[in-house]
Parts: sequence; structure tokens; C-alpha cells
Amino acid sequence: MIYLDNSSTTKPCKEAVEAIVSALSEDFGNPSSLHRLGITSESIITSARKSVASALGCDVSSVYFTSGATESNNTVVFGVAEGLGKRKKRIVTTSVEHPSVAEPISKLEKAGFEVIRVSPDENGEITAESIVAAVDENTCLVSCMYVNNETGYILPIAEAFAKIKRLYPETVTHCDCVQAFMKIPVNPKSLHADAVSLSAHKIHGPKGIGALYVAKGTKIKPFIVGGGQEKGFRSGTESVPLIAGFGAAVDKLSPTVSGRLETVSGLKAHLVSAVRQLEGITVNSSDKCLPYVVSISVPNIKSETALHFLEQYEIYVSSGSACSRGKKSSVLKEFKIPDKLIDSTIRISMCAENTPQELDELVSRLALAQEKLVKIR
Ligand code: PMP
Repeated sequence: MIYLDNSSTTKPCKEAVEAIVSALSEDFGNPSSLHRLGITSESIITSARKSVASALGCDVSSVYFTSGATESNNTVVFGVAEGLGKRKKRIVTTSVEHPSVAEPISKLEKAGFEVIRVSPDENGEITAESIVAAVDENTCLVSCMYVNNETGYILPIAEAFAKIKRLYPETVTHCDCVQAFMKIPVNPKSLHADAVSLSAHKIHGPKGIGALYVAKGTKIKPFIVGGGQEKGFRSGTESVPLIAGFGAAVDKLSPTVSGRLETVSGLKAHLVSAVRQLEGITVNSSDKCLPYVVSISVPNIKSETALHFLEQYEIYVSSGSACSRGKKSSVLKEFKIPDKLIDSTIRISMCAENTPQELDELVSRLALAQEKLVKIR
């Protein structure tokens, strides 16, 4: 199997699986229980929280576990709206956000908030100035992703948020760091982000668990209320096994962020030069993009056709993003990729375990697809 769909999800690492199995089978106590089993479970959570906090370079008290980045993003959007949003009615975001940010914001727009969506310019770039310019005194929330999931494009978050916090200290700055975490350094302080969303299954951890960093003093009302777990910020009995798996994945990847980035940069260079040998191919992810994601368009072959063709050889890629499920990607359109190319875009998303040989195999199968499928068409 050649797995090149790591932006959709990653294969859980051995350490994560072991931690999950152990917490599931041995340490199954409820972390709120006062007896020994409960205390052991609680200590597993404490240790995973330390791992996440240390990876972010922040205080443990700022890290809350959630059911994933979708929940983290919803919590920020609705939680700010219920607080500062009572007085300040503008929300600034970009037009290339993941649906888990875009949809809650659209919901608030229908409820009367003014929403400014900053779009990439004619070169497909989102500048810090364009984000800052959209913010005003009446802005409760600025929510911008760090790395785009469809192209790997890196947004100038630190520069934009630094200026915004200087001009409007009350405005809450939120960054969806799902596709950046454990790939490039993610430090909320350096990003000037009051809130940061993370997901475990993009970093070789389990699905259904994520985290939300919230800077001390930031007013975000809880989104899920109930038994008061996570200091009342996120109720619900904690999923100790998934939290343990998340912590194990972070511990495994934390020490190798820069080494893996170098490896994957080499893989991208290899892939781009090989893929350019194919006729008419367009590489949509520029040199400025995070190398983990390479979006390409193979003219005259529909994305899904290419995807299923490759699948026959056990090569797994994605069409646009997994979340768009066959729908034409509005995000690629925003990045100024022509309609015709959007229909034939495939996303190759790598991890450090991929090899140049796997990429060569992909390119040779793509060449075969061009030969066979373009003829049929
Ligand atoms: N944000 C981004 C940028 C993502 O790529 C994803 C996952 N596709 C999410 C949020 C949602 O994460 P989760 O699957 O943990 O809800």
C-alpha cells in the first residue's frame, strides 16, 4: 500500500495504539472517580496534557481536550459570539477555511453578525495586511487557519495577529493549526493567537480527539455543558484512551519536527520534478506551501477517476480534500485555480515515512492513467 492521503488522516503510530489499548483495557476508571482507578485515569490525562502543552510551549492550564478540531473550532466561534459577540458584531475570517470554521461562522452571519471573508489576491496569496485591514473596533473574532488543508498554503498568521492584537487587544484571535501541528512549530504566543485548535488523527494519533488552547483571560463561553469536566470548559467524561493516544503521538513526533520537515521537503522536491515530466500537469502548491501537501491537476482526467484508477494499485490520494466529497472545491477556486483544473485536481499528502520510490510509483501510474484514460475519454 502507498498511502498519500495524510491530510485526511494518518495511520496511528505504534506508541499511540499501545497507549490506547492499555488505557482501554487496564486503566478504565472514570477520571472523576475518587478511588485509585479514577486517580490513575486522571494521571493519564495530566500526562497527555503536559505533552500537548510542552509541544505548544504553553502552560498546561491553557490546554483543553475536545472531541477533535471540529469541536474546538465550533467552541471558539460560538463561545466568542456568546461573550464578546454580544457587544461586537464583526467576525473576520478567510475564504479558504475548513468547513468546521466556515460553517459556524456562516450560521452566525445568518443570526446577524457581519462577516468579512478575506480572499487570496490574484496571485493566490493572502497577505497579513489584507487580514489586518478587515478588522475594526467592532470585531469580536478573527479566525484564520495556519496551513490550508487542500494546498498546503501557509498563511501569515504571526504577522497578522501581532498587528491585530496591538491595534485591538480585545479582539479574540483564533488559529486552526490542524495541518501545521507537528509539521512546523506551533507556538500560540509567537502566533499571537488567543486560541488554537488541534486534532490528533492528523499527527498519527486516534480519531475523535483534539485539543483547544485558550490563553489565560480569553473569554470563550463553554460550548458543551454538563458535568463540568475540563474545569467546566468542556463537559463529558473524558475519553482517557483517546487522550492517552493523542499524548503518545505528540511525544513521538515532538522531537522530530524539523527533521521530518527536511525529509518531506526532499520528498516534495522529488515528487514535483518527477510529476513535471507528465504532459500538461499543473502543480498547484507553490514553493511557499508546506511540503507535506502537494496539489496537482492532471488535465483531462477527472479527480475521482484518477483517484479510483490509482486505488487499483493500492495508491491512496485524495481529490481536493476528503471533506469536499466530490463537490467542486470552493477553496481551490479561491486560490485562483481555473475551474477546468479544479475538476482534475488530486491532493497528494505525505508523511516522513513515505519514500521517493513510492512517489516514483505514483508518477508512473499517473502516466499510465494519462495514456489509458485520456484515450477512452
Ligand atoms: N481543520 C482542518 C484544517 C482540517 O484539515 C480538519 C480535518 N480535515 C479539521 C479542522 C477537522 O478536524 P477533526 O477531524 O479533528 O474534526
